[in-house]
This record gives sequence, structure tokens and C-alpha cells, in this order.
Amino acid sequence: MKNRILKLWRYFFPVKLEVRSEVVYSEITCLECNESLASYNRHDYKTCSCPNEAMIDGGTDYTRYGAKDLTKVDLFTVLDTDDFKFVRRFASRGGRGIDGRGPLTWVKIKDMNDGWLQAVLDYYPEGTDNSHLRLIKKEIEYRKENK
Ligand SMILES: [Zn+2]
Repeated sequence: MKNRILKLWRYFFPVKLEVRSEVVYSEITCLECNESLASYNRHDYKTCSCPNEAMIDGGTDYTRYGAKDLTKVDLFTVLDTDDFKFVRRFASRGGRGIDGRGPLTWVKIKDMNDGWLQAVLDYYPEGTDNSHLRLIKKEIEYRKENK
């Protein structure tokens, strides 16, 4: 009896287990010209050079993409909730070199050396939590477990 009431209660008031996924990497391929485009940050707007005008924007903040003919666009997205072995091949960090004066380039976290990972951790004040930092911490753990 108690179970039936609980079941009925849950039917009307379901417990929501929400898992929020963050975009780690997104890329589109224009099937008209075969160009692949990845957006690395919010203001990184890229477009292909063919008449289909496939575009992607938003980096890891959101994924916005479009084209004259959307059926000719393939979207590829990696989320932080995907298997980390896979995530680390796509998650990246922007940097301007050791002196901070070089051009902005994006390096996959799997290709960052241990010192750089630690420098990123040290850069953020104690208690900081953001999706990028969580990936850096996961990468450090991953390396410890997969030596
Ligand atoms: Zn194109």
C-alpha cells in the first residue's frame, strides 16, 4: 500500500536527476566543400569558404552553427561527461606561449606537459571551480592512474 502511494506520488512529482554537460569541443564539417571548422571560444566565429556558408560559433560556452543548407553540415561535439580518454583528445587550452606574447594557439590538454598543467592549477585562486579547471584536474588524475 505504502509503495503504491509512493509510486503515485513519484508519478506526479518525479525526482529529477539532472546531469549538466558542458561542451568541451565542437566542430562542423561542411559536406559541400569538406572543410572542418572548430570554434575555440565565445567569439571564435568561423565560416567555410564555399557558397553553403557553413558557420560555427560559441566555443565551449555554447554551440551555434548554421549554413544555407543545414542538411549539408555535420556537427561533432564532445561533452565533459563523455569518457575522459576521449575528452582529453579534444579539450584544449588557449595560450600565448611562456612569455604570453605569442599568437593565441590552442593545445589539447593531453599534449600539455605536467608543469603547464600545474601552472594552470596555481593560476586559479584556491576554491575556484569551473569546467576548464575540472578538466585540468581530471587530466592530472588520469596521468597518475595511467603511468
Ligand atoms: Zn562549405
